[in-house]
Amino acid sequence: MIAQPRIFVAGHRGMVGSALMREFEAHGYRHLVTRGHEALDLTDQHAVRAFFAAERIDVVLLAAARVGGILANATQPARFIYENLAIETNVIDAAYRAGVARLVFFGSSCIYPKQCPQPIRESYLLSGALEPTNEPYAIAKIAGLKLCEAYNRQYGTRYVALMPTNLYGPNDNYDLSGSHVLPALIRKAHEAVESNAATLTVWGTGEPRREFLHVDDLASATRFVLERDLADGLYNVGAGTDLTIGELARRVADVAGFRGEIVFDRSKPDGTPRKLLDVSRLAGLGWRARIGLAEGIRATYAQYAARQRVPDA
Ligand code: GDP
Repeated sequence: MIAQPRIFVAGHRGMVGSALMREFEAHGYRHLVTRGHEALDLTDQHAVRAFFAAERIDVVLLAAARVGGILANATQPARFIYENLAIETNVIDAAYRAGVARLVFFGSSCIYPKQCPQPIRESYLLSGALEPTNEPYAIAKIAGLKLCEAYNRQYGTRYVALMPTNLYGPNDNYDLSGSHVLPALIRKAHEAVESNAATLTVWGTGEPRREFLHVDDLASATRFVLERDLADGLYNVGAGTDLTIGELARRVADVAGFRGEIVFDRSKPDGTPRKLLDVSRLAGLGWRARIGLAEGIRATYAQYAARQRVPDA
């Protein structure tokens, strides 16, 4: 890679994008280009083309996306498929037209079939039906990684796709109607302690298994992929271990100091029964996750709790 590439971090205020900013700034990258949503709407094809034509971008980190948990995906399927498809097609095509050689596209482990052998290898893509609760989002993300593959094949670009497992960390979404499970549990446990509640309600049966990766580990995998000059293809990014939602709830409750009862609301969906990524492809090249779940939950809970203590300005 060139010494000081101009890197466009699309979605720099989000959880993934802000982790990328921290990672690349901390490792001496000085030319990070960002645009807030108000300055550049990535679903607007003309605006995106004009942006790439005006900026000399060397690398794109495509972390801008419409994301959300199981409920948000179920209630806003049109936004999840349309906005993600629009962002991907606009950014990837405009980047190619402007001569951008390197791009990292971020997908999600939900692109894999619902009934997949576990742990999930990259080669299981498109080998079966998707989990219905997030199919529109997953279809958009599959389209994004296929765009990268197709542009690489036809135009000789070097666009790589990373598929992270369930992420958590700073700048996560804690809105209970849109969030993923880990931030939701952090908030629920904190509020249960604050209000001296006797119970903490967890959605579903508590039996599904999930794998969790601190977003700073995804950022380190991204830098690894770029600096090793991995040219194309699909790479799973995960921690390599999973646990049940019930176990996760207990761990979060313990960190928050909640001593009451955990109850399960079986009227809410479970989603995919298990989603553990096989991370041997990246591990074989020398990358691995460094932030353990216990440490990650403690740090993330502490950040959340500290923010709740700041009085509204
Ligand atoms: P998924 O990994 O795409 O299914 O997305 P989520 O992170 O939203 O949900 C993961 C699992 O946690 C599902 O089985 C949910 O039913 C369960 N879960 C339990 N409590 C909650 C909660 O308060 N919020 C969310 N989003 N999920 C929860």
